[in-house]
Amino acid sequence: MKKIAVIGHPVSHSLSPFIHNAWIEEYRLNAKYDAVDIAPENLKTQIRSMIADGYVGFNVTIPHKIAVMDICDTIDESAKNIGAVNLIAVSRQGKIQGFNTDGFGFIANIKTQKPSFDFSSGAALIIGAGGATRAIIDGLMQQNIPEIYVTNRTRSKVADIAKTYNINIVDWEQRHRAVKNAALLVNATSLGMVGQPPLEIDLSRLSANALVCDIVYKPLMTDLLLAAAAQGNGIVTGLGMLLHQARPSFKKWFGVLPDISDKLRMEIEQKAAQ
Ligand code: NAP
Repeated sequence: MKKIAVIGHPVSHSLSPFIHNAWIEEYRLNAKYDAVDIAPENLKTQIRSMIADGYVGFNVTIPHKIAVMDICDTIDESAKNIGAVNLIAVSRQGKIQGFNTDGFGFIANIKTQKPSFDFSSGAALIIGAGGATRAIIDGLMQQNIPEIYVTNRTRSKVADIAKTYNINIVDWEQRHRAVKNAALLVNATSLGMVGQPPLEIDLSRLSANALVCDIVYKPLMTDLLLAAAAQGNGIVTGLGMLLHQARPSFKKWFGVLPDISDKLRMEIEQKAAQ
């Protein structure tokens, strides 16, 4: 039996076991996927002992995505640029290989919800400069997006991203104006999430053809998406990013890129709303 786990601290909230175990059942595989809580000080020893115990793959969540890079024998180009690993595959020779699938998840979610969206049609404006933003930029660059603008409350974090990626920095106070040039507007902050303040952004200058995407998925329809939809803009909800980022993980471990059935999507929507 193949043993896989998501590791984090805390980790009990993770939806990954439900998603992967649904696919394991669908493809009738002899495997199991657990959630294992690992305290930061035990990260390296516990991963090594899990591998010795037969684990061949991991998803990595907060707070281990950066620290886990230290124990990877190889890290792929995107994960290096993003500066975080969320997928580990252990090779037959025991090599620990690190990847990042968040950029794939972001792009695949847009392609699924808005197949007609043309990434080369104009610039993207990303609000936020946390871990998710780096993965989104990496994904967008692979789609040959012509220009990327990033704005964040803490400017130094965008300046840091600009050391790795060719992006334009927008002052936080200028974000309302910057909306004007965006073909794609993305909220990659935690603003708008249940329990967090709303995202304050004036959409009145937004082009009628622009697509608005929120990676916050609790609630699924954030105030940003409601406002964009109310003025006729296309929208993309965030939960699909979570579902799609899981697919390349499954492929690395089991050799098959799974589909997201309507049943799985609806079950995850219900779980995420709880
Ligand atoms: P993170 O690294 O903690 O970054 C948080 C971001 O939110 C930073 O840019 C931060 O700005 C900004 N922010 C927080 N509070 C703010 C406030 N009061 N005013 C202005 N900006 C504020 O988090 P992350 O990992 O990038 O994730 C961001 C959000 O995306 C979270 O809600 C997360 O749940 C969601 N997410 C969803 C998916 C998905 O699959 N759909 C995947 C990853 C993340 P500062 O730098 O100024 O603090």
